[in-house]
Amino acid sequence: MLRPHPAPSLSGTPWVGLEDQFSDWAWQVKNRITTLDGLGRVLELTAEDRAAFDVCAPVFRFAVTPYYLLLADRVDPSCPVRRQIVPQPEERTVRLGERADPLGEESFEAAPNLIHRYPDRALLLATDRCPIYCRFCTRRRIVGRTERQGTKALFAAALDYVRVHPEIKELIVSGGDALMLGDQVLDDLLGQLRGIDHIEIIRVATRMPVTCPMRIDDRLADTLARHKPVYVMTHFNHAKECTEAAAVALDRLVDRGVVVYNQTVLLRGINDDARAIEELNRRLVSMRVTPYYLHQCDLAEGIEHFRTPLAKGLEIIDRLRGHVSGLLVPQLCVDVPGGLGKVTLVPEWIVEREGRVTRFRTYTGAIGEYWDPDPVDSLISGA
Ligand code: SF4
Repeated sequence: MLRPHPAPSLSGTPWVGLEDQFSDWAWQVKNRITTLDGLGRVLELTAEDRAAFDVCAPVFRFAVTPYYLLLADRVDPSCPVRRQIVPQPEERTVRLGERADPLGEESFEAAPNLIHRYPDRALLLATDRCPIYCRFCTRRRIVGRTERQGTKALFAAALDYVRVHPEIKELIVSGGDALMLGDQVLDDLLGQLRGIDHIEIIRVATRMPVTCPMRIDDRLADTLARHKPVYVMTHFNHAKECTEAAAVALDRLVDRGVVVYNQTVLLRGINDDARAIEELNRRLVSMRVTPYYLHQCDLAEGIEHFRTPLAKGLEIIDRLRGHVSGLLVPQLCVDVPGGLGKVTLVPEWIVEREGRVTRFRTYTGAIGEYWDPDPVDSLISGA
């Protein structure tokens, strides 16, 4: 039997007495906190937080759902949830190497809102709206700028392009947050995609299970399941985000056969150690979510304070691989700036190669050998 969304405890919050509304995703979005006063009613803000709020406003919009805000520590500025919410003065500073469009998406915009960068898949930026504006967002150049609603008309040219490009086998519906689209718009969009013979896979990119899990109600889950195979790509960054409400949301998807993968962004001071990633991924796997990527933070403008050196991600993977179940070890991924594509990184496991022999360092530090097949024997046996 499907579990209902858990009833929240709102005593001591500005929403006391609004328990019924609190479980309604539309109420959550409508009642996002968008002002310094609203933020200050829930969190104890430092003088620096207050000073940063106004100066950051022109750089990147501020908004957060009541649900996600209540996951943040009231007083501790280093809380991993709070750091994703509260603007910091560093956002104003553009550092060497940073770019407005770090993934070079604009140069691959094949039709309005459609990015065709890789041969067999394309990305539809279906909305610029999100339930929260994460302070490290890569697409901050466009996200939250106009808060435009996704509409049929907005998608028409993009879908026409996909229809005449049979090499596109997979369509990633993203944004913004794809699940900011209303159920009817989403159903219509997915239905149109399913009507294109060469589209085999649909991905839906969303942080809703993290930031507004009540969005995953029965109606939405049925809509996604109707257009299977649909892969939901979500974005948990810390175990603190893996709440009972999130678990209920994910159950609704997985029980209906919607596959859920997680992409974590490696963020300084939030999740940049092996224990944090292990704990997060244990929670995700227990909720039947596959940890897919650990993303190196992109070179978007004003987010250097969130970035870690490449060596940090490699160290984390080194500490996980072999020590914990392989189900908990994501691929460490760098999106090479300029739209050159993703590369995955692994620690140096190979110590030496010599003829047919490769020597490895294993997770215990032991050195072992692997022998390639003898090319002469292979020829004989194949004759
Ligand atoms: S939900 Fe995604 S697109 Fe929206 S602000 Fe956060 S990271 Fe950016």
